[in-house]
Amino acid sequence: MFDRILYPTDCSDVAIKAVSYIEQLKEAGAKKVTILHVLDKKYLYETAHEVFVDFAAIENSQRKIVTEECNEVVARLRGKGLDVKVRIEKGIPFQEILRVANEENASLIVIGSHGKSNVQEMLLGSVSEAVIRHAIQPVLVIKR
Ligand code: ATP
Ligand code: MN
Repeated sequence: MFDRILYPTDCSDVAIKAVSYIEQLKEAGAKKVTILHVLDKKYLYETAHEVFVDFAAIENSQRKIVTEECNEVVARLRGKGLDVKVRIEKGIPFQEILRVANEENASLIVIGSHGKSNVQEMLLGSVSEAVIRHAIQPVLVIKR
């Protein structure tokens, strides 16, 4: 039922908290986990307003940081015997999450209720809210 999990992460504390739930989903039949990080297009371009900016260099260093941050999670999940893949996409986070969920034929999306901004007054972050609203797959929301 939950054999193909999509785990979108911004490497925030709340997102990391979701990992132990994914580990436990192995017992519910989880086999494959796709870890997805979206390089936010808006943020990528806002960081660089100068004229001579090497977008490719910024993007590459972002990819490197994310890949390193994901390594520990990959090891943990592989250690549980799960088949793990990492995808890094560029775009609008919620749109990429929805697209990859369909592309990977996910049976469940596991997402944090909040992320890096983690504004206390907000019931849900904007990414998780849009994913819950638009996804056709079941969504497991891990709260902070
Ligand atoms: P906001 O971004 O609206 O200011 P926030 O950062 O507190 O609020 P969200 O961004 O909605 O909250 O984060 C909720 C969850 O969505 C995270 O725990 C993570 O699982 C996922 N997420 C957020 N941003 C990304 C991203 N760029 N790539 C992949 N997953 C993400
Ligand atoms: Mn966020």
